[in-house]
Amino acid sequence: MLDFDIVIIGCGVAGMTSALYLKRANVNVCVVEKNAPGGQLNMIMDINNYPGIKSIDGPTLAFNIFEQIRELNVSYKYANVIEIINEKDKKIVKTNKGDITCKGVIIANGRRPKELGLENEKKLLGRGISYCSVCDGTLYKDKDVCVVGDERNALDSAIYLSKICNKVYLICRNEKFITEELIQNEIKNINNLEIIKNTSIIELLEENDKLSGIILTDKKTIKCDGLFVNKGNVPIPIKCDKLNTKDGYIIVDNNMKTNVDKIYACGDIISKSVYQISTAIGEGATAALNILKDIE
Ligand SMILES: Cc1cc2nc3c(=O)[nH]c(=O)nc-3n(C[C@H](O)[C@H](O)[C@H](O)COP(=O)(O)OP(=O)(O)OC[C@H]3O[C@@H](n4cnc5c(N)ncnc54)[C@H](O)[C@@H]3O)c2cc1C
Repeated sequence: MLDFDIVIIGCGVAGMTSALYLKRANVNVCVVEKNAPGGQLNMIMDINNYPGIKSIDGPTLAFNIFEQIRELNVSYKYANVIEIINEKDKKIVKTNKGDITCKGVIIANGRRPKELGLENEKKLLGRGISYCSVCDGTLYKDKDVCVVGDERNALDSAIYLSKICNKVYLICRNEKFITEELIQNEIKNINNLEIIKNTSIIELLEENDKLSGIILTDKKTIKCDGLFVNKGNVPIPIKCDKLNTKDGYIIVDNNMKTNVDKIYACGDIISKSVYQISTAIGEGATAALNILKDIE
């Protein structure tokens, strides 16, 4: 006897949507998550491109969806998935807390923030370095912080932090930010926000095992207590024999089906052109309704 019909890896918006559709179809489903439910939603301060809701913060949206699936009694396991094993008549999802057997798997394990790749970056994580201003911003109340990145997320992060911190330096490696004019104009009018363009961080300074500053390519030093890295995302690999991927992203067809029997994928982990909440939701629903036909 198998533990579940379907196991969903990842409790982000894609995985939670799949769970919602499957449980409503009376499927015995389990979501496995290694962190807090919500995934990247937990990092978003203001969502205003989600149809029907003019403005909502990410953690609230995550909580609402999670509550919706918990009310349906979707099984939830807090564990890190290490590998998916394909056997002829079942899948084995191997986790750090034991194996789970099932008929089919939906991989919805998303992406994680890209690191700077500097020597002491990992060591200083949580000691001055952060990848999420919504999560950690208040730790730097009235302090000086830097934000690095040149896309919308970096600008959003800098605006958010300018309301909490004493001073915010926004560091961009190019002459221009890759985002809408409107938000670029907004940051110009913030008194405690200084924009530094055409530069990169080459060294992280530390004192007493905490970040104390950064050095830029022109050797300029900026003293700061926090550094928020907003340089985009990279896919999180899941070990699964014969699964087709491109640059770490899983290749799926229009039904979210991978090349491996009864394994589907959805959300930010798949190879696609748009990485948004709305697309992740659509793909979560598509994966659920198609894997359902496969296991029946
Ligand atoms: C700062 C920021 C701002 C954004 N702003 C917007 C916006 O305004 N509008 C918009 O539409 N989109 C926005 N996005 C993009 C949007 O958040 C994502 O496209 C969407 O949340 C992806 O959802 P997902 O479920 O595919 O993946 P994720 O949210 O990444 O969820 C994947 C989950 O899988 C879990 N996981 C990973 N590996 C394992 C494992 N081995 N075992 C168990 N669990 C695992 C992770 O912990 C995570 O919880 C933003 C993203 C960021 C980071």
